[in-house]
Amino acid sequence: MPELPEVEVTRRGFVDRIAGARIEAVRMGKPLRWALGIDPQTLVGREVRTVRRRGKYLLVELDTGLLLLHLGMSGSLRFDAVLPPPGAHDHFDLVTSRGILRLNDPRRFGAVVHVEGEDSPLALKLLGGLGMEPLEDSFDFEAFHAGLRKRRAPIKLVLLAGDVVVGVGNIYASEVLFLAGIRPTVAASRISRPRALRLHAAVRQVLARAVEQGGTTLRDFSNIDGHSGHFQIEATVYGRAGEPCRVCATPVRQMRQGQRSTYFCPNCQKY
Ligand code: ZN
Repeated sequence: MPELPEVEVTRRGFVDRIAGARIEAVRMGKPLRWALGIDPQTLVGREVRTVRRRGKYLLVELDTGLLLLHLGMSGSLRFDAVLPPPGAHDHFDLVTSRGILRLNDPRRFGAVVHVEGEDSPLALKLLGGLGMEPLEDSFDFEAFHAGLRKRRAPIKLVLLAGDVVVGVGNIYASEVLFLAGIRPTVAASRISRPRALRLHAAVRQVLARAVEQGGTTLRDFSNIDGHSGHFQIEATVYGRAGEPCRVCATPVRQMRQGQRSTYFCPNCQKY
């Protein structure tokens, strides 16, 4: 599943090229998770101002309204002046004066949704519950710590929920907690201030690094030019059950939390 770093890498890969482009045509493939919500023809002639990101949504800002784009489980975007004719899994083409933005999504859990603005009811429904952005200055430690203190669930699940901070997906949650030396099962509300400080720094560090390196390598993720990232190769605990911890050589352990796999070092992450 594309995570925040992959979405951010995707955004950076085409934002400068598409800004200022005029929409010339919109081609829809099979239905996606949600309907576009507007007659595609009415988008023709509008101008793309910029592309921002909120959580895992890309916000394609038009001179009127915006398109919320989500990659779902298996989506990826391409942007190029010329692309081959759409294939079976290409379900959305935004043809512009600067190139074609194409969504390929074999499983079709992704979506492109038109909204009037970020304060429209649908935008609020999709974006309103999102937590702080980990890579922005607004990711304030005090607010982060306050968010954790309200939650009794295991810290791993609180990070995954995304309502305190967005972007810490399943792979990153294990990596972040290892870096901070925190046991994934500890109640979020019981994390002391010094440990929360380490966690706050770890969230920033792991996600920033993943963006720098081009996002995680996931079977079906490729960036805007069709290349894959390589973060997972360097994972410290994720996917390494039974292998020696890179810090203390204790075998890495795997467990299930909320139907997802968690990896941790029982020695480096004692509590
Ligand atoms: Zn260890």
